[in-house]
Formats: sequence, structure tokens, C-alpha cells
Amino acid sequence: PIGPLLPVVGGNLATPLAGGRTARAVNLDYAASAPALQAVADHVTEVLPYYASVHRGAGYASQVSTALYESARQTVGAFVGARADDLTIFTRNTTDALNLLASAVPEDGEVLVLDAEHHANLLPWTSRRHRLINTAGTITETVAALEAALTERPAALVTVTGCSNVTGEILPIAEIARIAHAHGARIAVDGAQLVPHRKVDIAALGLDYLAFSGHKLYAPFGSGVLIGRSDWLDAAQPHQAGGGAVRAVNAEGQADWTTGVARHEGGTPNVLGAAALAAACRAIDELPEGAIEEHEAALSARLLEGLEQIPGVRVLRAWSDSTDRVGVVGFTVEGHEAARVAVYLSAEHGVGVRDGKFCAHPLLNRLGVTGGALRASLGLGSRSEDVERLVNAVRTLVTEGEKLQYEQIDGAWTP
Ligand code: PMP
Repeated sequence: PIGPLLPVVGGNLATPLAGGRTARAVNLDYAASAPALQAVADHVTEVLPYYASVHRGAGYASQVSTALYESARQTVGAFVGARADDLTIFTRNTTDALNLLASAVPEDGEVLVLDAEHHANLLPWTSRRHRLINTAGTITETVAALEAALTERPAALVTVTGCSNVTGEILPIAEIARIAHAHGARIAVDGAQLVPHRKVDIAALGLDYLAFSGHKLYAPFGSGVLIGRSDWLDAAQPHQAGGGAVRAVNAEGQADWTTGVARHEGGTPNVLGAAALAAACRAIDELPEGAIEEHEAALSARLLEGLEQIPGVRVLRAWSDSTDRVGVVGFTVEGHEAARVAVYLSAEHGVGVRDGKFCAHPLLNRLGVTGGALRASLGLGSRSEDVERLVNAVRTLVTEGEKLQYEQIDGAWTP
């Protein structure tokens, strides 16, 4: 059996089941928010006594907090191979980071967006000049469509996800970066689902911008980052106008906005969130090379194999030629409404999965999933027993579905 790769907080929580039973709660929803690593919780506890206003006080705690915040910035940037002149801007999450970037792309520049994106990398772009590229059934055709769009008319930016939050499939971002650059465009990657699973090196991959969220990277304290080239960001309107973002304000209230990270980090920063994210990066960096992939590949293989053997289960794939994937598996169960299956899995088996349309409506529509789907996702705290519990539960639902009275489950279960 495979155990957790790193200890997570809450890995042994009990959950109530229908009929008054209890079981260890199986968390297969890492893609939504991953539990805190124990190392993250320990670090937050250690620095908690020192939190104070960053960059605004001469007192000891303020000095410690400022040092902590700025060293977290270095750690997080280095974790993804940021270049020396890249800005690493702390944000609330990926959504916030991508909205910031959307406000920084020069106004006359067009942005190319794939329709397979999470809404966080779709909706920030639709209110400005953009072209939506319909993803084809293969990655090859999708990349060709992007290239054709760039050939037809230049664009300022191509923005793509590194990994689908619906199917776990990985896109060839280095290749897309090369194509974008060959046509004079920049590339931004939504790393929310990729960074927790794979080593991402901005410089080596040739990315111009990368966004990701702390709460999907085992640091659940409201932090995220946008990392990338400074010129557009230094020329953009401040993301949060306010204290800290200005050099000076005159008597008429006109601001002389500063440049660099401070321009977009107005207000008191989330020092604990930054520290937590840095702690997660350090803990992951300390793992032997390839350890995450190895841990996850074994669990994913069992999960995919187990689900695919159950009659009526469809594992979702966006691209028939994808060869690389992470442990994020979207699926449907024929004849069973996804929302009810999710309740059944939790109430009867203590398994937590996500259901719905995963904030990726265009992709779900293309895949012909109308009523919603289920998603099981793995991470550093996952173990074989988690996967077995899910696979056995779905098999029981399919084989004994008629006997299982959802109504009774709904009635007996109080979330
Ligand atoms: N992009 C992808 C691919 C995601 O999976 C998510 C989260 N579901 C986001 C962006 C948005 O992340 P957040 O909610 O942390 O802003």
C-alpha cells in the first residue's frame, strides 16, 4: 500500500456517515483546496507571534514580519525558477493574479484564450480585446489552432492553463511558449493545477507569466502569486490603489504610483499567507526529485484503472492525444446525477469529491456533460486506501444502485 508522501493536517479526521456510523474522512478533493502540510502548520505556528504590519513599523515584530514577507517572496519565486528581473507579486489567489495580469496587458494588444480554461483564466480576458480559440479534440490540433490564430493576426499574449482542472491533462506549455514567442506574443500560464504536481521552471519553460494559488499548494491562508515580466506590470494601473502603492500623494490626492511589486500590493499584506506558501515550497523542494510524480502516478494508475473497469463510468478527457496527466480525474456515472453521487459518496462511504461543472463550462459543454460531473483529485497526503474506498464505493453504487435509496441517505445525512 502507498501512504502519504508528506504528512498533512487533518489526514485522519473522522466523518459522520448515514446511519450513525463514522469513518476516516477520505479527501479526494485536493484540486479544489489541498490540506495544509504539517510543515506549513508548524511554520505558521512558529511565526504567528511575530505577525505585525509589514513595511510600516520599526518595532521588532514589524521588522521580523517584513523580513519574513520578503524572504517568502524570494522563496516562492525561486521555487518556480523566476528570473532575477521578474516580479513576484503576492495576490489573494490565481483568480486575483490573472485579473491583475488582464489589467496590465497593453490595451491595444489582443489576448488569445482557450475555451478549455477554468473561468479564472477565461472571464478576466473577455472584457478586453481577445480571441477565443476553440479547443479541438487533440492537443496537436489545439496547438495548431493557436499557431494559425497567431499567424493570421499578431497577439500580445497567449494565456493557457498548464493542466486542466477537469481532466488533469497537461498541455505542452514549453511548445506553446516557443510558438507564441516566434509570433511576437508573450505567454501566461495558469499554474493553479500544474504547480502542485510538477516542477515548473519559468525560465527553462520560457514562460513570461505564471499564476498559482497557495491553497492548492498546501498553504491554505489566502495567498497566491503572479510572477513575470515587469514592464507591463510597472506601466499598469495599480491592482489595489491604496497605502504602500505610492511614492507620494499631493494635496489634490493625485498619486505618484511606485513601480515593482509594491505598485500592486496596496494595503496591509497577508504575511502569514506568504510565509505559509513559502513553507510549502520549501517542504516540496526538500522532496527527492521525481518523488511527487512517482507517488501520484502509482495512485492515479490505480484510480483510473479502477474507475474505467466499472460499467457506465466515463473518465473525461479533453484531448485524445494527451500523454501526460496529473492525479485529477473527472468522471461521470451513467444514469446517476453527479450531485447525488457526490452526496452518496460522502454519506455512505466518507469520501469527499467535487461535483459540478468545475468552473469550466465551455469545456464541459464540449465534452457533452450537461448535468455536471464528478472529480477525484490526489495530492501529497493521498494513500492507496483513499483510492480503493472511492473505487469500491462507485462500484457498489453501480451494481447495487437500485437498492440504495438516495432519499434515505439524504434524510439521514446532516453535513
Ligand atoms: N485555474 C485553475 C486551473 C483552477 O483549477 C482554479 C481553481 N479551481 C483556478 C484557476 C482558480 O483558483 P483560485 O480559486 O484559487 O483563484
